[in-house]
Amino acid sequence: MSFVDEGVEAVLDRFQSEAKINALFIATFSYGRGIAGRQVPGQPLPDHGKQEYDTEFHGGNFARTHDQYYAHTSLKKIQAPDHGSFDVLASVLPQAKSRHMKVFCWYEDVFRSDLERIDRLQEVTLSGEKAGTLCFHNPEVQAFWQALTEDYLRSYPVDGIMWGSERQGPFGNAIGAVHGGVRSNPLEVTCFCYFCKRAAKSRGIDVQRTLEGYSKLASLVRNSRAANRPADGYFVSFWRLLVTYPEILAWQKLWNDGQKSTYVDIYQLAKSIRSDVAVGWHIWHNNSFSPFYRAEQDYAALSRHSDFLKVVMYNNCGGARLASYVNSVSRTIFGDLLPEGVLDLTYRVQNYQEPDLAELPRNGLSAGYVETETRRAVAGVSSPSAESASSANALGTTKIWPGIDIDIPTGQGEKKTEPQDVRDAVRAALSAGADGVILSRKYSEMRLANLRAVEEALRA
Ligand SMILES: [Zn+2]
Repeated sequence: MSFVDEGVEAVLDRFQSEAKINALFIATFSYGRGIAGRQVPGQPLPDHGKQEYDTEFHGGNFARTHDQYYAHTSLKKIQAPDHGSFDVLASVLPQAKSRHMKVFCWYEDVFRSDLERIDRLQEVTLSGEKAGTLCFHNPEVQAFWQALTEDYLRSYPVDGIMWGSERQGPFGNAIGAVHGGVRSNPLEVTCFCYFCKRAAKSRGIDVQRTLEGYSKLASLVRNSRAANRPADGYFVSFWRLLVTYPEILAWQKLWNDGQKSTYVDIYQLAKSIRSDVAVGWHIWHNNSFSPFYRAEQDYAALSRHSDFLKVVMYNNCGGARLASYVNSVSRTIFGDLLPEGVLDLTYRVQNYQEPDLAELPRNGLSAGYVETETRRAVAGVSSPSAESASSANALGTTKIWPGIDIDIPTGQGEKKTEPQDVRDAVRAALSAGADGVILSRKYSEMRLANLRAVEEALRA
């Protein structure tokens, strides 16, 4: 968006001279406002760019869509209508190259439901409704990600690609183990479509038992939120359900395996097209909060098919998000504890220590959290288990580029990014062994003083 609003040359000039930026992660595909479009309406506009909100934001593919690659998927009409004929890659690549800046396509798993024929690709919820999300076990979805990847790599001389999916499986969603989780509806968890049921049967998972288990889980979550404490307490009741219906976790793994095979498929296709292209992933912030989600993000396993990992370590908005996670699970699986107790448990399990619950949203997380999480990621991709016979990558070659947040919107009274925060977080990441940092989420929401603080961090 900023390239259109402010001009490609002007933006690149600023990136180089004021923040020493040497690589661009261009939001080439998304229907979400997190990485595309201008500032989110309702939040203050930054001190650059057009001083008005893009309330008509639509999203889609911001490069040109080349139809020949989309033969095996019904989802073809993905061209973003937002900027007319402006092709962000064709416009930025030549100028970035002449400045020796690397260019990555940054595309993510976020859709809207009014796209032509998207219903054929959508997930199905526990209650049998179509969801707004797409199913990784659906062949047309797999073909879609292959098509988009091939389109980018054959149509443009980009240096790399980064794909992201900020989603988790049905168990984590059912218990609300995520920031914003209080709004999660355990009857809307996914996916129970034809393709998932078929994949489950081939693994010997009983579909009927799974549906029964998730329905009982939904009842337990609803009762927990209503403070109807079971005789044996919340935790024991949740655990009892899991051992009675091991299908709940089997389905969770089925979902995860679909997401993971998307990583592997994108990696292998990209390398088959151009072996020198850098391929990596955006690892969702929930990794810092939910131990259930963290357990599924195995850096050693991921590193086998990753040239780099952007591990999200947004410390400024992280305080409010962690508090939100805690407030959600302290009314489901951890309902036996007070929210303060859940926060303490989370700190101990996740291995970082930060303010108490009252201070957390206002203070955010510290640079110390960034340092701890960076060390953990570097150790993860360097561990001996990262190498295996099936490994496409040599041990220790996966780069860690922590995602540092600059002005990601937070609520009223919650932590806002200041230059000192950016300096401290960038220094913390680099001193802990990061190979670089990715300033997140998007330039169109960043204030210039905070961006300039990156250059100061590098100078010191
Ligand atoms: Zn499915």
